[in-house]
Amino acid sequence: MLCPNCNAVVTQGQRFCDNCGLRLSADVAPASAPTLQAPISQQSPLPPSEQSQPTTYQAQPGIYAPAVVPNSNMAIISLVAGILAWALLPVIGAIVAVVCGHIARKEIRESGGRLSGQGLALAGLILGYTQLALAALSACLLLILFGLVAAGTA
Ligand SMILES: [Zn+2]
Repeated sequence: MLCPNCNAVVTQGQRFCDNCGLRLSADVAPASAPTLQAPISQQSPLPPSEQSQPTTYQAQPGIYAPAVVPNSNMAIISLVAGILAWALLPVIGAIVAVVCGHIARKEIRESGGRLSGQGLALAGLILGYTQLALAALSACLLLILFGLVAAGTA
């Protein structure tokens, strides 16, 4: 016998078409409306679309789990201080950025994966060290300049 809807081969006495889920016999108990859900719940082979959906729902918490790992506060302080060093507080901000950056990297290393923010800490360290280097260079240039001025007036 063939399904009147999709012409798939169905065995006699089967209540729903395996291929399209069409209700084949009218004398079935009218438990639920003859929608596509009725054959799915009564027959074991699920359509591929229905089978794949539960696995995608289960995979989603796994995708979001790594994002829950909090950033190290020290790493955030280091980055903010590093930016402040360049914007408002040269040297002082840079020292804070470097100190906090090193503490953050140690903290993250010893947390065993419970803290993140390695990138933030590294950015804070780079900002801090480059600012300190620039400040040291400026100080040297100023000293040389003062030295030249002093030599010229002597
Ligand atoms: Zn069918």
